[in-house]
Amino acid sequence: MAGIAMPVPDATVIARRDEIVTALKAIVPGEGVIADEIEMRPYETDGLTAYRQMPLIVVLPETVDQVARILRYCYDNAIKVVPRGAGTSLSGGALPLADGVLMSMMKFNRVLDIDFANRAAVVQPGVTNLGITRAVEHEGFYYAPDPSSQIACSIGGNIAENSGGVHCLKYGLTTNNVLGLEMVLMTGEVIRLGGKHLDSEGYDLLALMTGSEGLLGVVTEVTVRILQKPETARAVLIGFPSSEDGGRCVADIIGAGIIPGGMEMMDKPAIHAAEDFVNAGYPRDAEALLIVELDGPEAEVDYLLARVEEIARANNAGYLRTSTTEDERLAFWAGRKAAFPAVGRISPDYLCMDGTIPRRELPRVLARMRDLSERHGLRVANVFHAGDGNLHPLILYDANRPGELEAAEAFGADILRLCVEVGGVLTGEHGVGIEKRDLMTEMFSDEDLRQQQRVKCAFDEKQLLNPGKVFPVLHRCAELGRMHVHKGQLPFPDIPRF
Ligand SMILES: Cc1cc2nc3c(=O)[nH]c(=O)nc-3n(C[C@H](O)[C@H](O)[C@H](O)COP(=O)(O)OP(=O)(O)OC[C@H]3O[C@@H](n4cnc5c(N)ncnc54)[C@H](O)[C@@H]3O)c2cc1C
Repeated sequence: MAGIAMPVPDATVIARRDEIVTALKAIVPGEGVIADEIEMRPYETDGLTAYRQMPLIVVLPETVDQVARILRYCYDNAIKVVPRGAGTSLSGGALPLADGVLMSMMKFNRVLDIDFANRAAVVQPGVTNLGITRAVEHEGFYYAPDPSSQIACSIGGNIAENSGGVHCLKYGLTTNNVLGLEMVLMTGEVIRLGGKHLDSEGYDLLALMTGSEGLLGVVTEVTVRILQKPETARAVLIGFPSSEDGGRCVADIIGAGIIPGGMEMMDKPAIHAAEDFVNAGYPRDAEALLIVELDGPEAEVDYLLARVEEIARANNAGYLRTSTTEDERLAFWAGRKAAFPAVGRISPDYLCMDGTIPRRELPRVLARMRDLSERHGLRVANVFHAGDGNLHPLILYDANRPGELEAAEAFGADILRLCVEVGGVLTGEHGVGIEKRDLMTEMFSDEDLRQQQRVKCAFDEKQLLNPGKVFPVLHRCAELGRMHVHKGQLPFPDIPRF
């Protein structure tokens, strides 16, 4: 493991492994419990591949009752549990623990109900994001949030990370598209929140669960909003002589009251990587490329496209190309959607960062990032959801060169500090996980963090669900509210403060 420390595994739990395997097999018969080292190997990492850890045991339940019984057993026996979907998290949220059970939800893969009249679909959490659209598209519907990983990532993981994508600028993130959840708490209690109705009763716990990174409960059923596909969608490629011009254009488009279906930006290294990979027709001489998609009724799209082109020219756009066919529109997006693997071809390794800034700060942040790139001696390719101010700098490094991973992490931390400094936040859509855990103090005071942890304690007082993620210091729940350092001596010195 590189620079990020995890809680010290509990040797007494590891010593009870055989007994735990037997207990889990009694709950999930057949092949639902994996204890063999080679078979567990595929689960040792997620999308943050710099970090690996073999789990104690992997369990793949198929029913809500099994999930409830596994959690209750682990609760009674003080065993940690890490929920897992497809394992594409880029922040290490699904990284296993050596003394923890990894609970894969990928056997929960059925679409349960499609209700066009209520514009809702009820699915199990292991259904892929794209699988929801596939299930409803025959009637002209789709599920709007579209992470680039949508072919693989699960809707359960999307809920846990509050995932976003190209079309979230106009249609909202996961949190804006989830109507209801069924969850199992660590005690084995099954709860239901929201539903097909449009308002929630009592506190908005649904919003709290969305983005809770597997720390509050295990999602076993999801009700999502589905939307009718817009009548028309057209995209325009806009090349700029500088990232600053592109950044200003983004702010001006939004400032003019236009909310595109998607508005994405790439810098020169990303443009070249994508173009070499998929031949999307991007202008190689541009320093920054903006892809703007307008959707809706045809007349409105035509009008808005003309307005966007006008604003682009006023911001020194040197290249403008509007899609004339659906194939061309999809080709424009193909480069952007393949940008991550494309960058993977030009560097042995890369770290994908994720921070959000106020849109107007784009030009300043891009300029500062160039300085940081020089200072850290590492290249960076920028791909980002420009309309949302959500940056995805891809820091290029070579893990085989001693010290480069650490240098890339230090560079990434500086970028996230910069996001906070200009009034932004540490995450956009990839979550905190382990990746940004130790940076939480850059954004939150100790009291803020303790307050957040009190919420965690209300759901999981033994802190058994996904510990070591999100919070930089683990307080014991009983200790919260009574933290007092006397003469420099911390109370509860045995609590891991990693
Ligand atoms: C190439 C690539 C591109 C990506 N592009 C995007 C993008 O455009 N936008 C974006 O937002 N993200 C993107 N991601 C990140 C990732 O795909 C998302 O975070 C996704 O939502 C993770 O889903 P998953 O099923 O893989 O979850 P996992 O990685 O398995 O888990 C992620 C977190 O969710 C928790 N979890 C999973 N299932 C459950 C459940 N049923 N109940 C409770 N907790 C659960 C886990 O404990 C963990 O904390 C990308 C990743 C890759 C590799």
